[in-house]
Amino acid sequence: MNKKIIITIDGWSSCGKSTLAKQLAKELGYVYIDSGAMYRAITLYFLRNHIDWTDSNEVNEALGNISIEFEFNEKSQQSEIILNDENVEYVIRDLVIAEKVSDVAAIKEVRTFAVAQQQKMGDKKGVVMDGRDIGTTVFPDAELKIFMTADIAVRVARRFKEMFKKNPNTTIEEVQHNLEMRDYIDSHREVSPLRKADDAIEIDNTHLTMPEQLDIALKLTRKFI
Ligand code: C5P
Repeated sequence: MNKKIIITIDGWSSCGKSTLAKQLAKELGYVYIDSGAMYRAITLYFLRNHIDWTDSNEVNEALGNISIEFEFNEKSQQSEIILNDENVEYVIRDLVIAEKVSDVAAIKEVRTFAVAQQQKMGDKKGVVMDGRDIGTTVFPDAELKIFMTADIAVRVARRFKEMFKKNPNTTIEEVQHNLEMRDYIDSHREVSPLRKADDAIEIDNTHLTMPEQLDIALKLTRKFI
């Protein structure tokens, strides 16, 4: 049997990290974990419960009431996020959440809470996790670290297509503004800012097809298993 490893995929918003991570996990028989979904679910909880996230006591109390799990859905054939027994996989993709998630994800207590769970999910290895700080903070000793980039215009076009399908009122300008704003906050925050780990391998997928990027990632993986 092949050795099980941890694969981290970090990078800018809408670079296709989750597409690659899902395909890679499927090919390898690994578990895929979408760490961004956890920050989105926490943001959803904070918004629904009117939590003042500038107040650390309120934040800590709220975090104590949050339980997050991932569950494989046979119908959609993907793992979906469950917040306090409710499947929120689709609600958290809304632009309302995307507009606030980077502020919430910059809070120290929120990161401590999410990172501890992410590390637990990886303790048996055989995991592909995507996010912003997975190779730098969550699994600094991961065997394979990938950092993804793509031109902003390509990223905006891809995300717009996705969002437009769900909500035809979405405009390309608001999608672009959201991506740029999140990239800025994510890379400038104090705790675990988005950055390429020194030992991460960069994949720029601006001109790559999905099978091409999967092929590159599989070749990299084979060096370690
Ligand atoms: O990956 P996704 O775009 O769904 O992530 C949503 C947001 O969650 C990011 O813009 C970022 O603010 C936050 N995030 C993070 N650290 C991670 C994953 C996501 O701060 N590991």
